[in-house]
Amino acid sequence: MRAIGNLVLAAAYRVIRAIGGSDLVDRFYGMKRVAIIGGGLAGLTCAYALKQRGMEAVVFDASPLQGGRARTEHRDGFTVDAGAQYLLDPELFRNTFRLIRDLGLSSDILPIAPHAGQVYKGKIYRYSVASALGLLKFKGLNIADKALLPRMAYLLARYSPQLDFHHPEHGLDFDDETVASFAKRELSQNVLNYVAGPLISTLFFYGSEETSKLLYLLLARHMYNTRISTLQGGIGRVTARLSQETSIVAGGPVATVVADGSSYVIETQRFSNVVVAAPGDAVLGIAGMEELLSGPPLFHFMTTWIRHAYQKAVGFLQSPAVARMSLRTA
Ligand SMILES: Cc1cc2nc3c(=O)[nH]c(=O)nc-3n(C[C@H](O)[C@H](O)[C@H](O)COP(=O)(O)OP(=O)(O)OC[C@H]3O[C@@H](n4cnc5c(N)ncnc54)[C@H](O)[C@@H]3O)c2cc1C
Repeated sequence: MRAIGNLVLAAAYRVIRAIGGSDLVDRFYGMKRVAIIGGGLAGLTCAYALKQRGMEAVVFDASPLQGGRARTEHRDGFTVDAGAQYLLDPELFRNTFRLIRDLGLSSDILPIAPHAGQVYKGKIYRYSVASALGLLKFKGLNIADKALLPRMAYLLARYSPQLDFHHPEHGLDFDDETVASFAKRELSQNVLNYVAGPLISTLFFYGSEETSKLLYLLLARHMYNTRISTLQGGIGRVTARLSQETSIVAGGPVATVVADGSSYVIETQRFSNVVVAAPGDAVLGIAGMEELLSGPPLFHFMTTWIRHAYQKAVGFLQSPAVARMSLRTA
């Protein structure tokens, strides 16, 4: 009954908006019309969730391309995800798996072997990322480094009550140091170079000098025995499907948010609420945001900056049947 009620209200709202009465509806009936700045996975999923609750959402995205970092390109028979290519354990990524199911894509989830290749002195060492034992065979870590691995297990066990992937706020006490500084202080430079650093740069493309140790601890706690999968056809299928359901204004960054009484104006449109789903270092680049924030959130965005670990270009040397790829890093 509630869903039908929401649908009726949403339909009435659209009709009244069409004849120019959006402000009236917003004020007297408290209808929400939400602007979402950023059309990556976060912004599009937010719009989808709001729509399911009968609210209107408009997504503004700086790029004409869909999906932010969760984008897929198809070249020469290959599927190349620009980001978010690995889905970790279904329990860990439970919201992502639920979204994929709701979008009707569950049958295209492909389990993949959790094998990593680590380059050391020109040779590739393969090991399972879901097993600490695999690291024992890796020549990049010397005996002293390997002797430190149980220490990492001990630290993770000790911190575990605060390390909840779905509640990162429980671990805010750990958000005081970078991955690089933590790994060098508690473990070793080699553990940073070959274990901690690659985990951060492979999964998120961030550098360990700029990333909070909290993210590393959360991942490290859950990496062992994790299952890894991917979406056949690319993660871009999720953002494409979400985009179909969403009203999107794309192709230029939102430059200003104007607060006007209890509503907000973005590019001449009026909204009851604004969600910012842009990368943290872009937030204060939007005029008007600084005035809307105060205290710890303002300080957070003033000190946030993102630098990707490296750029990579992938070129296909032969046909998909031979499947050899060259990886050039710069
Ligand atoms: C190479 C790589 C590999 C990755 N691998 C994985 C992985 O295996 N598993 C995993 O879970 N995650 C992975 N990630 C991380 C994952 O891709 C991101 O966490 C996720 O896609 C971020 O989504 P988002 O919506 O928060 O941000 P984004 O995708 O960055 O979206 C933000 C959007 O905001 C827009 N924007 C910015 N400023 C403005 C503005 N002023 N006005 C309007 N729009 C604006 C941008 O155009 C962008 O579309 C990887 C990332 C990369 C780059």
